[in-house]
Amino acid sequence: MNLASRTACATCHLVLTETTDEGRTVYRHPVAEGRHAVVPVDARQLPDVFDRCHTCTGAPPVWNYHTGLIQIAAPGAVEVYNDQWHVCYRCAHHIESDDADALTAHCAARMQWPPHSDEYAILRTLHRCILLGRENRALLTATDWPPARITADMLPKIRDRLTRLLRGPDHLPAPVNDPGHRRTLADQLDLAPMYWINQEFTDRIDDVTTTQPAATVTDDLVISPAGLIAWPTPVGATRQLAAVSWTPHLDGWQIIGYCSIGTALDDGLMPALRHEIGWLTPIHTEHLARRATLDGHHPLGPLITTWLLIHQQLTETVPAKLPKGTTKAYQRHRRPAPDVRIVRIAPRPATTPEPSAPAGPRIRAKPDHRFWVSGHERQQAYGPGRSLRRPVDIHPFLKGDKDLPIKLSTTVRVLGDRTAGTEPPTDQG
Ligand SMILES: [Zn+2]
Ligand SMILES: [Zn+2]
Repeated sequence: MNLASRTACATCHLVLTETTDEGRTVYRHPVAEGRHAVVPVDARQLPDVFDRCHTCTGAPPVWNYHTGLIQIAAPGAVEVYNDQWHVCYRCAHHIESDDADALTAHCAARMQWPPHSDEYAILRTLHRCILLGRENRALLTATDWPPARITADMLPKIRDRLTRLLRGPDHLPAPVNDPGHRRTLADQLDLAPMYWINQEFTDRIDDVTTTQPAATVTDDLVISPAGLIAWPTPVGATRQLAAVSWTPHLDGWQIIGYCSIGTALDDGLMPALRHEIGWLTPIHTEHLARRATLDGHHPLGPLITTWLLIHQQLTETVPAKLPKGTTKAYQRHRRPAPDVRIVRIAPRPATTPEPSAPAGPRIRAKPDHRFWVSGHERQQAYGPGRSLRRPVDIHPFLKGDKDLPIKLSTTVRVLGDRTAGTEPPTDQG
């Protein structure tokens, strides 16, 4: 489920606010109702949308403040405003400091409205209403941040900021906002190993993920019961996915994809942002049932590709050497040392097993490119006289020498009869 979707008005292209009223979603124009009725559409359908801070319009919004519906009486009329305020990081800083005057001064300066003007007075009233009337705020997850460059060293801090966000009072998108669930997730992530994919492996994943055939997610494919994976730079078709966490949930896993926040603010507010939000914001969530199938086009495709290439033993995993300061800080708080693992392409891929290689002495021309061989279920012989059969998952794997170019368009299907009991008994699976 995409957590970073935005709805905009097809008439004016403004990103709309969204609120639920008795189970019904109500869309409003930002700030005050427009002169036309809203025409809500998925913002991706519009060529360009206007998505700026509702108070200063100077920067992209980061927080959504919820208030009661604000109405301001002016001589002869009551102006109806909104109950949701998408606010940039600087304006939020003024709100959190309870400094309405600073907020108004900052916004009026941007609009070039002089103090003592009528506009300035209205702005000041509105800002006081927002400050006094605020009930809670939610992290906006569609914010288009410049991506961060993530290193293995950073992972303990990145994880700790994420768990603090999960345990904190700020709201997250509804599908990941249940308080009990947020606490459980944070507790699970506290103990989960963290995987940092090195640049070479990340490049490999990027090259092959879009053509990755459907893979069945099984316990042996998922590299640990829970975990957090981060790539140094974002991966996937939309170049947004910077990290993914997975934790056991019901009959499978809860998976959350995150985008990263790079150095986004050019002033002194960056440390505060790191403290409050950290590096990751959730952009996708999915309950992945055991044996679900996902191909490379899925938003979480790069995660599955990463797992497949690790499962195929193209990689090696080594513990990251963390700075003394990090491990000492964990000791001081009586926490077990953070478990950060670096995953990189293994130096000798010649030993790569080829689990789906057809049985028998068939001679083939050596391929001049790499390609995916699709996965399937194989009936494996076992038991007395090898008379019994049990299904075994053969995961998709990448075939061909590591230096060969990747053929992007073809997936080779393994030929063979997959019916129970007809597999040659020499086949060990
Ligand atoms: Zn409109
Ligand atoms: Zn602002």
